[in-house]
Amino acid sequence: MDVDSTVKGYYEKILQRNAGEPEFHQAVAEVLDSLRYVLRQDPHYTDLGLIERLAEPERQIIFRVPWIGDDGQVHVNRGFRVQFNSVLGPYKGGLRFHPSVNLGIIKFLGFEQIFKNSLTGLPIGGGKGGSDFDPKGRSELEVMRFCQSFMTELHRHIGDKTDVPAGDIGVGGREIGYLFGQYRRMTGRHESGTLTGKGLQWGGSLVRTEATGYGCVYFTQEMMAARGERLHGARVIVSGSGNVAIYAIEKAQELGATVVGFSDSSGYVSTPDGVDVELLKDVKEVRRLRVSDYAKEATGATFHKGGNIWELEADVALPCATQNELDDESAKLLADNGVKYVTEGANMPCTHDAVRVFHKRHIDFAPGKAANAGGVATSALEMQQNASRDSWTFEYTDKRLQNIMRKIFKNAASTAAEYGVEGDYVVGANIAGFKKVADAMIAQGVI
Ligand code: NDP
Repeated sequence: MDVDSTVKGYYEKILQRNAGEPEFHQAVAEVLDSLRYVLRQDPHYTDLGLIERLAEPERQIIFRVPWIGDDGQVHVNRGFRVQFNSVLGPYKGGLRFHPSVNLGIIKFLGFEQIFKNSLTGLPIGGGKGGSDFDPKGRSELEVMRFCQSFMTELHRHIGDKTDVPAGDIGVGGREIGYLFGQYRRMTGRHESGTLTGKGLQWGGSLVRTEATGYGCVYFTQEMMAARGERLHGARVIVSGSGNVAIYAIEKAQELGATVVGFSDSSGYVSTPDGVDVELLKDVKEVRRLRVSDYAKEATGATFHKGGNIWELEADVALPCATQNELDDESAKLLADNGVKYVTEGANMPCTHDAVRVFHKRHIDFAPGKAANAGGVATSALEMQQNASRDSWTFEYTDKRLQNIMRKIFKNAASTAAEYGVEGDYVVGANIAGFKKVADAMIAQGVI
């Protein structure tokens, strides 16, 4: 990937030290490329190895996760927790269970998380973890046994003042329940602040389930308002059909938009008249079926096996599935089909070349580290409720989420303008996230 000459030396060293981790390289390149504006103006940010320290996790834990399948066979997976940067607070970031998980993917997610968490304005550092375990097709008991084995090792590395994991792909309320149960058993303590995304009866927060999807839509509203436009009446494409996608669909439709399609890894469903959100939740969250099953039961919905969801016509696109799901060819399709706004609900779903197309074609683009920060921000609100043994109402928590998303938008927009690239929310978010972390690292010395 190309990066500006100001930061090329740093990038090349990071590539050498972290061979074979393309997603991590991509995430680092995107941040470094934005930093050229800051480093030219404020070269002191390169003193005392700051950039090199920022790109090196404080700690990386890799462990064996053995578990026994229903057939009596022993399975061995690999567990990861990358504790990337705790300068602003305890490490905070989700756990991903997916067969594609490897160290490079966890490092890319952990690196992004540092700046995302900084942007929320809340006292949380950056971390991420997970396993190459595939929950798809596994029985309830297999998932439970896996989670218990995973936590048997992880418990010694986490805690409400050290590292607070949450969910991500493949880790929802069910898995957090099993993980928390085993944590409690291993430590003998009901320390609810150690994991977020918990059930409402035992320390969870209202709005946490909805937060990432809702937050992504709130961010989109702000971006549209800056151009004097509204979501009401807009056609919206949402990729994925997991936690982030479902609640992005719900909020977009509540605000008067029509969601014209959603997807999973087998294809997409076109829904020209909108999505029946209750049916979608029942299919995905209760019965744990596929989007093709939604299409069988819904009126006016068509399943396109293996199809490219980005070929749909719309005004707004919200990629909410996974990294690098939207490339430059798809970006051109979106531009040709009239899309004017793209907001990342997932982490790094758009390739670097796709983002270039958006900028060239005057599509407003919101990067995930700003636009999907509502999830981790609400996790931090869950931690606040746990610390004060309180639970807030849905309305109050949702208001706080809305305010946080508005502030993140304003911060990204004003920082971009300050550095002479108005409307470039990638540069704005990267610089705003970076400066807070970098200033704290300088203040705390070389550690
Ligand atoms: P889920 O596991 O709930 O859902 C993931 C969805 O993405 C599923 O519908 C899955 O389909 C689909 N998907 C995965 N790979 C592909 C692919 N190659 N093509 C099309 N669809 C695919 O995960 P989340 O909704 O929690 O996470 C989605 C994204 O949002 C991730 O990037 C995550 O890191 C990010 N994120 C999540 C947060 C959260 O609070 N949950 C917070 C911030 C970011 P299938 O079932 O076929 O695999």
